[in-house]
Amino acid sequence: SASLKSSRADPVMSKQEMQRYDGADFSWSKEVEQQLKDSFHLSKFRPLQLRAINLSLSGKDLFLVMPTGRGKSLCYQLPAVCSKGFTLVVTPLVSLMEDQIMYLKSIDVSAVMLNASSSKEHAKTVMAGMTDPKTPFKLVYVTPEKIAKSKLLMSRLEKGYNANLLSRIAVDEVHCCSQWGHDFRPDYKLLGILKRQFPKVPLLGLTATATSSVLKDCEKILCVSQPITLTSSFNRTNLYYEVRIKDSDASISDVASLINSRYKDQSGIVYVFSQKDAESVSSELQKRDILAYPYHANMDPDDKSRVHRKWTSNKIRVVVATVAFGMGIDKPDVRFVIHHTISKSIENYYQESGRAGRDDQPADCIIYFGFSDIFRISTMVVMENVGQQKLLQMVDYCQNIDRCRRSLMAVHFDEVWDDEGCNQMCDTCRHAKDYTTVDITQHARQVVQILELAGSMDEKLTPLKLVEAWMGKGPAKRRKMIQTTTLSRLQAEAVIVRLLLQGYLREDFSFTPYTTYFYMKLGRKAPLLKSQTHTLSMKMRTTESGSAGDTSAFETNEKEDDIIFEPVVMDNSCPPQPKQKLFKEQRN
Ligand code: ADP
Ligand code: MG
Ligand code: ZN
Repeated sequence: SASLKSSRADPVMSKQEMQRYDGADFSWSKEVEQQLKDSFHLSKFRPLQLRAINLSLSGKDLFLVMPTGRGKSLCYQLPAVCSKGFTLVVTPLVSLMEDQIMYLKSIDVSAVMLNASSSKEHAKTVMAGMTDPKTPFKLVYVTPEKIAKSKLLMSRLEKGYNANLLSRIAVDEVHCCSQWGHDFRPDYKLLGILKRQFPKVPLLGLTATATSSVLKDCEKILCVSQPITLTSSFNRTNLYYEVRIKDSDASISDVASLINSRYKDQSGIVYVFSQKDAESVSSELQKRDILAYPYHANMDPDDKSRVHRKWTSNKIRVVVATVAFGMGIDKPDVRFVIHHTISKSIENYYQESGRAGRDDQPADCIIYFGFSDIFRISTMVVMENVGQQKLLQMVDYCQNIDRCRRSLMAVHFDEVWDDEGCNQMCDTCRHAKDYTTVDITQHARQVVQILELAGSMDEKLTPLKLVEAWMGKGPAKRRKMIQTTTLSRLQAEAVIVRLLLQGYLREDFSFTPYTTYFYMKLGRKAPLLKSQTHTLSMKMRTTESGSAGDTSAFETNEKEDDIIFEPVVMDNSCPPQPKQKLFKEQRN
């Protein structure tokens, strides 16, 4: 990613000094490079990783703020492997620990864990290992509770420290220290003991979401003085974000013609909802002369890696994939990621769409936002605790044309947003003038009346039935009793989604042994519509065509020519600074 934010002034280091840490002339550099390839099987570092690793190996205390999935763990795992002794890793969840241990095992890095359910026997072995000069493991994962409650652990750590075997302390999800963060854990509050007892050991705090005030708080709680903070912004400046309304009949040919024209001879991913969709969409694309192949979890492992390999070597242009296509994908020149179905959360979307443009060249991220897809995914995530809430945030991202797409993501990732940060690289910024605000109060009342009527007849309406009833389709008996709408189908759907997002409607599930049904019900705000003074409005697209206009990352906006650009340093070891228009620069 090209986007590094330098918002937090660094108290200890100048820019030049900092750049040294992107380099490879340290005594450990050779080993770092070698372990990256041999142990971790990775070809190169992602932005900020090498800098973080070099800083940590230099003994600096460090806070690393990086979006989920960008590779924070490597920043302590790799130093652990390159250091004498062992690294102590504090992790809030046992499941996170288990994942990491399993992964490390698979790459032959020895790691152990201590948590409430560790057996006495196991704990004993681990504790003994902490003072063993031959260090039988490189990483020890512990829960904060262990640190807080186990005097034995602290005494062993102290012995290890005195023997110079405690090489590093990593605190994962470091925002949990702060009560102002969104995920406060009381036991994190006590972790200051580590730095107080082991002042010479460098500490590395990692998080995906922390505002500077939360970080300041963490700094105090952990008793580190003036740590260096590295922040990689979520903002991928070279990606153009767009949402198109999915008209189920037209969407495939729309996707195909995009791929055949705008992305001619370029490589990309089309994400779909299900295995069946992967098969059908790829065969539709093939019919239109596109070299597309499906990829999903149920495929034979050999077929999967064949598709992956061929795509990586550009023998296949498009992979039509479920979310199973994710792990280990690091193709740099992906020019488009099209979501034929929305993702189940903004985090997921960020990660999936983020596979575009890793080479920092312009790339497009397009979502086809379809009404019925919301409910398909809804029934899928119904069992997850906050699944529904996360899905609705995703839906809000798609429907909201009041605001820049990036600003919506920024809010989501708890990042301070600056309106300049988008640079017209999203559809809502580029097409604001094509939207109009419409009063939808009357429409909302009609929808509420239909649901009231259905309720009085003891009938449950699925979202689809609700739209159809409103459009004047369905049983004659009902048709006579309701006010049908003058809106087009897509507009009617948009209004219903809006009402759902704002709490005028809500979802209601019903389980049968075979399926989950999804019904629409009146939400907590529905009674407000009884008041004559209550009004509701929303922005709508003035064009029916779905997208507001046919634009992308690849179009340079001529009007912007008078803006002066900073020169771009295209050097892997030094990622370019934000707000540069890479796509323009490279054309000049
Ligand atoms: P985070 O903790 O930031 O959410 P992880 O450390 O769990 O992210 O890493 C997410 C994924 O990224 C892992 O699958 C990891 O193997 C992969 N990854 C990390 N660094 C690199 C890299 N330099 N190149 C390719 N993949 C990487
Ligand atoms: Mg992590
Ligand atoms: Zn924008």
